[in-house]
Amino acid sequence: MGGKMGKSSNFVSLESLPEIEGSTSVADTYRRLGKAQRGAFSYSENGMHYIVKADDLATQLFEAQDISTLRERAAWSIRDAMRRVKIPVQVAVAERRLSADEDPQTFLQQSSEQAFWVTDGDRRLGWLLTKDALLHTATKRLVYICANNHENPDPDHGTCYKCPAKIVRNELR
Ligand SMILES: [Zn+2]
Repeated sequence: MGGKMGKSSNFVSLESLPEIEGSTSVADTYRRLGKAQRGAFSYSENGMHYIVKADDLATQLFEAQDISTLRERAAWSIRDAMRRVKIPVQVAVAERRLSADEDPQTFLQQSSEQAFWVTDGDRRLGWLLTKDALLHTATKRLVYICANNHENPDPDHGTCYKCPAKIVRNELR
């Protein structure tokens, strides 16, 4: 099962990414990502499907903001958060579906970040993701660093779990 695609290091299985609804809050989204130990989630809207780079989203939402803004943004729905950031964080999954037996190399030559469905007949197995920046969000965990350098599993409401300082940056590990 999975064929050539399943063996590719650019293949990400359907089960490995949390699927987030638009109405889910930013704080709950990042809690789920922390539990899943992933920096990306899958998202659907108006019949389109996306892989969302949660590291880029967290950077735009949380970096260089005061604590009241962080709290306010943590309560936003993920749909609102994605609409309000200036640089898009979602990669649309291409219409073109790849069969598990196709050669992934053909599709990894893309010059931009792309996501393709990988299917076995009618069944969706996961995605083939091009480019390291996109792939790493889907395969690594995101950690959130406070102003005192503590590592947190999620940004909660913008402040550290171990001290009162705010979250100042995130890192994929
Ligand atoms: Zn701290």
